[in-house]
Amino acid sequence: MPVQLDDGAGGLLKDKIEDLGLTVHTSTGTDKICDGETAYHRMVFKDAEPLDVDVVVFSAGIRPQDALARTAGLEIGERGGIVINDNCQTSDDAIYAIGECALWQNRIFGLVAPGYAMARAVADQLMGKVATFEGADMSTKLKLLGVDVASIGDAQMQTLVLKRWCCKIRLKALTRN
Ligand SMILES: Cc1cc2nc3c(=O)[nH]c(=O)nc-3n(C[C@H](O)[C@H](O)[C@H](O)COP(=O)(O)OP(=O)(O)OC[C@H]3O[C@@H](n4cnc5c(N)ncnc54)[C@H](O)[C@@H]3O)c2cc1C
Repeated sequence: MPVQLDDGAGGLLKDKIEDLGLTVHTSTGTDKICDGETAYHRMVFKDAEPLDVDVVVFSAGIRPQDALARTAGLEIGERGGIVINDNCQTSDDAIYAIGECALWQNRIFGLVAPGYAMARAVADQLMGKVATFEGADMSTKLKLLGVDVASIGDAQMQTLVLKRWCCKIRLKALTRN
């Protein structure tokens, strides 16, 4: 979750998940998957001991569906996505793109809130108002294996005036007698 969590928060989440009895491997490149000796498959890593596993689940991230725009000859980003300006206009200013297919300032947003903000900006323009898309709140709340995770504001410190505050809160389990 590199968009939502910085290194420190990612480390805290890893600890929480490992407290549940799971082992988390990060920064581990998979070289190949072959037949296992003690389980169905063997994951062979570039830089760590191999791991025998019964099930492999791929989670490969998001890829913008931009085929229609490609066919139409609109400008597409290097790694996909329809290039838009702050008005959400594509390289053809009569055509707008919003949501997960749109590439704004070289960014694809993988959340619904930025799509809604783009939709509002375009709707306002179509109504004759001046409105631009200026980025969106990337705050996220989710539950990961039962662990509550929330990321609020500029988690990656991209706003220059921000100061770093780090606060670890440990909540003790409350029991009723
Ligand atoms: C498993 C999962 C969990 C998620 N959880 C969250 C979450 O908790 N919170 C959150 O904010 N976001 C979440 N997201 C992301 C969120 O779903 C997307 O950011 C959002 O749906 C993007 O909206 P969109 O309208 O841009 O695209 P989509 O919802 O993908 O809609 C695009 C539509 O266009 C259609 N389409 C594509 N090409 C064509 C074509 N040529 N002609 C006609 N139709 C076409 C597609 O079939 C699709 O129906 C999640 C995504 C996934 C996959």
